[in-house]
Amino acid sequence: MILLETFPAGPLECNCTVLACGDTKDAVIIDPGGATDRIAELVAHYDLTVRAIIHTHAHIDHIYCTKDVAEAHGGAICLHRDDHLLYKSLPVQAAMFGIRPKLTRAVDRFIVDGDRIEFGKQAALVLHTPGHTPGSVCFEVMDEGVTYLFAGDTLFRRGIGRTDLPGGDSRAIVRSIRDLYRRDLDAVVIPGHGPKTTLGEEARSNPFVTA
Ligand SMILES: [Zn+2]
Ligand SMILES: [Zn+2]
Repeated sequence: MILLETFPAGPLECNCTVLACGDTKDAVIIDPGGATDRIAELVAHYDLTVRAIIHTHAHIDHIYCTKDVAEAHGGAICLHRDDHLLYKSLPVQAAMFGIRPKLTRAVDRFIVDGDRIEFGKQAALVLHTPGHTPGSVCFEVMDEGVTYLFAGDTLFRRGIGRTDLPGGDSRAIVRSIRDLYRRDLDAVVIPGHGPKTTLGEEARSNPFVTA
């Protein structure tokens, strides 16, 4: 059994998730763009041990509080190497968005397609899905017959991620999403922003990329 709490974090309302193994209380935190109080509350309430801080990509709204969370709760900072430049440019991104600049903390583990990030008896499978950024990934987690896909800014409910920012690639994102549509179509998609959907719904009805 997994514990799963998703909530909007930071001024751009990135969906941050605290995800834990219900048996061992080992946890990962996905995209801590803010809401550090909420994260701390959940860690304390469930008595979680944070094993990793994992990122769907390195835009400011998904990494803004990574350093704070790592310092407060521990956990290996995980990122795809193709977003490392973006990650290190957090102060530049902050200036672009008019947000108070922050420092980053070194990445502990560069993740690649097919990696499994373990937390207790559970694991998140890494799927490299470039397009929104070069190092965008999705995380797939299976629990009690349900597949959850943390899609970052690759796929939204009836939308897809923008590709006009530095490193974006409109052809690559279409390829990445079509690859996702070959997976479990019943998967519950938790996007980087906005409401949940399922892969099947998007494969049928997404106005930008259908199966
Ligand atoms: Zn983004
Ligand atoms: Zn975002």
